[in-house]
Amino acid sequence: MWKDRYRCAATLSVDFDAESLWSGTFKLTTPSPLSRGDYDVRAGLPRIHALLDKHELPATFMVPGQVADDHPDACADIAERGRHEVGYHGYFHESVLELPLDEERELMKRGIARLEEGFGATPRGNRSPPFALGPNTADLLEEFRFAYDSSLFGHDEPYRPRVPVVGGALRDFVELPVSWELDDAPYFLFSFFPYMSGLATPSQVLEIWKAEFDGSYASGGCFLLVVHPFCIGRHPRIAMLDELIQYIKSFQDVWFATWRRNGAACRPSTAPGSRPSWQTPDGAGFPVRVRARGGGGCGTEKPCGWTARLTATGCRPVARATACTWIPRSCTAAPAGWWRP
Ligand SMILES: [Zn+2]
Repeated sequence: MWKDRYRCAATLSVDFDAESLWSGTFKLTTPSPLSRGDYDVRAGLPRIHALLDKHELPATFMVPGQVADDHPDACADIAERGRHEVGYHGYFHESVLELPLDEERELMKRGIARLEEGFGATPRGNRSPPFALGPNTADLLEEFRFAYDSSLFGHDEPYRPRVPVVGGALRDFVELPVSWELDDAPYFLFSFFPYMSGLATPSQVLEIWKAEFDGSYASGGCFLLVVHPFCIGRHPRIAMLDELIQYIKSFQDVWFATWRRNGAACRPSTAPGSRPSWQTPDGAGFPVRVRARGGGGCGTEKPCGWTARLTATGCRPVARATACTWIPRSCTAAPAGWWRP
């Protein structure tokens, strides 16, 4: 049960890579491959906006710092809608697998600053390109106080990850997992250099995505879809996404949310081993951040300035903090006035 009344959660994220996918990941800097990134801005994003506006849906846009630099107007188009979230997606869409810690920290710092300038909001989610968390990234996400990561494959609904995966520490952020099944690129990204097959028919992909949603709905889980403007933006594919959204909306008790709000609403495990758990095995808990209503009239929210600790018995305030933004709905003992997104 999500948000106390929904059976299933559904979230859409849009990886707005533009030219950085081709220059940063594939090292292709000549006009033709870069123009595939240009398609993001000219055709893909406007069609995605038209679709999301029609359905009044929120989405999370994962944006590299360089893209915020290169495409301020496109970023403004996202920000001005007011219901979308922006997440960090590398600076140059670079691989962080072999990046020294100091270098990755500097890029992350610069990238966060670029997104703050471009979107007027601090990104609280990370997706390391291309779905590849580096050996130092988890430490940096905790250092920069990210609320969630979305680069791992360990479940098909949000969970609290261990990094390193085997024997590593339980991390103080949520994992909103990715999957190649629910990414449009394996189906639609065709390229000669480097070679990728990817010219599936939209009807085939619609069949797979509907079946994935059916499974999430039946299990009370979370449907996490990733799309890229230059892949999904072509006419038959955006029409297919429209059909998928209509299909999901035909279920009355589905909660559409950004990835950040979705991660903040994760539920705890009730049966050991049956669900990913928010609670540490010893019940010691881990810090969460909160905010409260009040101070500006009805419906106004402002940071309350408290850090809380989630334990086996509920959520307890532990210290003043400068950044406090969210609290899992699994906190059943939040003090009066605290707001759970
Ligand atoms: Zn990307």
